[in-house]
Amino acid sequence: MSKLKVAELFYSVQGEGRYMGVPSVFLRVFGCNFKCAGFGMPRGELSQEAVNINPEKYTDYKALPLVSTGCDSYASWDPRFKDLSPMMESDGIVDRIMEIIPHGKWQDEHLVITGGEPLLGWQRAYTDLLDHPNMKGLKEITFETNGTQKLSKEFRQYLLNWTLGNKSRGHDALTFSVSAKLPGSGESWSDAICPEIVCEYEQVGTTYLKLVIATQEDMKDAERAVEEFRSAGFQGHVYVMPVGGVESVYALNNRNVALYAMQQGWRYSDRLQVPLFKNEWGT
Ligand code: SF4
Repeated sequence: MSKLKVAELFYSVQGEGRYMGVPSVFLRVFGCNFKCAGFGMPRGELSQEAVNINPEKYTDYKALPLVSTGCDSYASWDPRFKDLSPMMESDGIVDRIMEIIPHGKWQDEHLVITGGEPLLGWQRAYTDLLDHPNMKGLKEITFETNGTQKLSKEFRQYLLNWTLGNKSRGHDALTFSVSAKLPGSGESWSDAICPEIVCEYEQVGTTYLKLVIATQEDMKDAERAVEEFRSAGFQGHVYVMPVGGVESVYALNNRNVALYAMQQGWRYSDRLQVPLFKNEWGT
């Protein structure tokens, strides 16, 4: 039976993207190919906030400090925190999901597989998880990805069968929410903007871009990135979302980002988990 390294598994309201407000199970797996230490920092500088957290002080994921700069889910990929993310068999994950959803079976809840970068190392393991008998009633899945990882041939075929091979589903049942990282994240353009890979997701499920914006420079970068994605044939929606894993930062620019979205004819994505739950772990 396959195992996944699970950083968090919780039930909440999806705060971002096309499923904003939908009751959702979040499966956050461990590992990422990026660090995104530039978020919330002046251009060219990298956050040290997470680096300065001493992992030895924490035995419980929920007690970890929130950060206002850098990746807000640092503990889902930083190897110093890896012991807080247990390896779980798919049976154990499904049992836990059945405990946390309200009626012990799938109704209108949607499954979000997030990270870290969920398509980095676990593609084979998801098939065992999704084939579990108690997962049959699940109707919708979102992969929250940074859009840099190709789908393996086998996983691509599996996902096509999961959607198109099931009468109650269809192409729209699977979503790739692609948070392509702009240079403000601290990652390089050539590593982070991968239109060919994202266009491949589009063949398999509904795919949209969700770009994080803090500054005028980010806006320019977003326009350039969207142009590159469009030139490669990408047809999905574009969302822009304010930077800010903590309320004070988020509140600084959410209105500006909404106005910018309107100006571009793009969609605005909130981060409902920030005003609703202060972005605490497990929300
Ligand atoms: S891609 Fe996402 S999870 Fe990975 S470091 Fe960047 S923000 Fe964090």
